Amino acid sequence: MQRTIHGAVLRLVEGDITQQEVDAIVNAANSRLAGGGGVDGAVHRRGGPAIMEETRRKYPQGCPTGSAVITGAGALRARWVIHAVGPVYRDGQHGEPELLASAYRRSLELARDHQCRSVAFPSLSTGAYRYPLPEAARVALRTVIDFLGQRRGSLEEVRFVLFGREAYEQFARALEELLPETQA
Ligand code: ADP
Repeated sequence: MQRTIHGAVLRLVEGDITQQEVDAIVNAANSRLAGGGGVDGAVHRRGGPAIMEETRRKYPQGCPTGSAVITGAGALRARWVIHAVGPVYRDGQHGEPELLASAYRRSLELARDHQCRSVAFPSLSTGAYRYPLPEAARVALRTVIDFLGQRRGSLEEVRFVLFGREAYEQFARALEELLPETQA
């Protein structure tokens, strides 16, 4: 499923973030940038130790929730890995939507600042951090749609790589609500 926004493509695919051939992939990191399971585990396993070495050297203080940092991509097909820190979901009343939107926005800014034409995101915060998928999908898509609608820059494609059919369906439903397909 895809939509075009100001000439840029917003695309949803089902798949594995570490296999994407794009300029930058986004990692679902934690604020210590310490590595972990889920996306983070897969990124470091497939990308090799160079990514963690660079992360430790450049960002010894970690990265605050709602923000992101960038490193090279080691053995991955991408050129860059953007390590984004989404919020741990508690009840939705602790700034979770704002922090999640901010993690996406900062990642998009980093991609643009590094002249990326394509960037691929996983669904941040919806694994170990337990953010409910339908709400997370709405926040994620709205943030990307706003960004592509407002800013000029190098980005030609923003791809969401959803892990499994269920995550894909939730994102597809949210995108259809936010940007209904216009009748031909
Ligand atoms: P967080 O700690 O931010 O919740 P996780 O990595 O635990 O991050 O999960 C985020 C989302 O990414 C979950 O929906 C999970 O199913 C999905 N996911 C896990 N592995 C991959 C992968 N290799 N590619 C894409 N998405 C993945």
